[in-house]
Amino acid sequence: MSYTAPSDPVNKKPVKVAQLCDLCHCRKAVLKRPKNLQKLCKECFFDVFETEIHNTIVDNKLFHRGEKIAVGASGGKDSTVLAHMMKFLNDKYDYGIQIYLLSIDEGIVGYRDDSLATVQRNQKQYGLPLEIFSFKDLYGWTMDEIVSVAGIRNSCTYCGVLRRQSLDRGAQKLGIQHVVTGHNADDMAETVLMNILRGDVARLEKSTSILTSSKGSPIKRSKPFKYCYQKEIVLYAHYRKLDYFSTECTYAPEAFRGTARELMKNLEVVRPSCIIDIIHSGENLFLKPAAGGRRQGRRRGPGTTSANTTSTTTSTGPVDGSRCERCNYLSRNRICKACMLLEDLDKNRAAVTIETDTSHDGAAKTLRSLERLAF
Ligand code: SF4
Ligand SMILES: [Zn+2]
Ligand SMILES: [Zn+2]
Repeated sequence: MSYTAPSDPVNKKPVKVAQLCDLCHCRKAVLKRPKNLQKLCKECFFDVFETEIHNTIVDNKLFHRGEKIAVGASGGKDSTVLAHMMKFLNDKYDYGIQIYLLSIDEGIVGYRDDSLATVQRNQKQYGLPLEIFSFKDLYGWTMDEIVSVAGIRNSCTYCGVLRRQSLDRGAQKLGIQHVVTGHNADDMAETVLMNILRGDVARLEKSTSILTSSKGSPIKRSKPFKYCYQKEIVLYAHYRKLDYFSTECTYAPEAFRGTARELMKNLEVVRPSCIIDIIHSGENLFLKPAAGGRRQGRRRGPGTTSANTTSTTTSTGPVDGSRCERCNYLSRNRICKACMLLEDLDKNRAAVTIETDTSHDGAAKTLRSLERLAF
């Protein structure tokens, strides 16, 4: 059976009833929502997706009028959609916030330099101020140099710790106290699964928070895409024709996260709502206080990498709000994680005997080729 919708001014062609949008019932559906399998036309998808994010922001009181907000912008799909969405919702609903783009240049030749070019285009497209801070300026190392010393396997651990601190330092230099990031529902569900699988109870409790801050730290972080499926973010970027960078990082993503991601994708095939279900499960987990009032956490046993060990063995240091003895940056511990990692790097620098050339393909490719060789 065919039907020409009287209220669709754009498409005058007849549409089969079975192809009509589940919401407006007058335009042809172009997608099925991965979250609930609802068939939607482009216009209804935009409306539903944008309204859901607006509701998340309002329900969680993420912003207040006059607040300066830094969007952690990498040029990838999540952060590009986030920058677009923040500007769009701020204009539409008059949040009264000032939005900045804040980018970190980790120094990964052939990857980050190209993605930062995308952010620079986004800056012009959205008319937002942009600031870029680099690992080299902040720490004296690029990620390519770090990988040449520490090896490719630990790249994400180093990169994650340094980038997190760089975003905080960058925001502080700009006088901004709130950083929003493009972490989506898939990322969050993966993190919950990872923390369950490795028994990291202390991190599990925090892993579903939409807003995180620490006592004494001026920078808070929030995730407005907490309930957004990655597939829908990609669809939104596609239909809105947003300009984003889609190449994967030169270095392999963290192996354990990759395993959790695969597990979740398999679960999603049989139960599409599992991503949101995992997040809801995480949100409803409450830790029983241990004797002495401290929450129960798990110390890692032997077999962890030096970088990972760093992040746990220092967990009994001073409380939130204290400062690192070396760099004076806010740290729960006597020495912050970044300084511990940098100390390891300095110790290991002398041991490096391979000359890497970062002027062409980057150290990453050189090292990856070397690691593939079996002797
Ligand atoms: S994949 Fe790892 S090394 Fe590459 S940008 Fe992400 S965290 Fe950094
Ligand atoms: Zn519709
Ligand atoms: Zn420090």
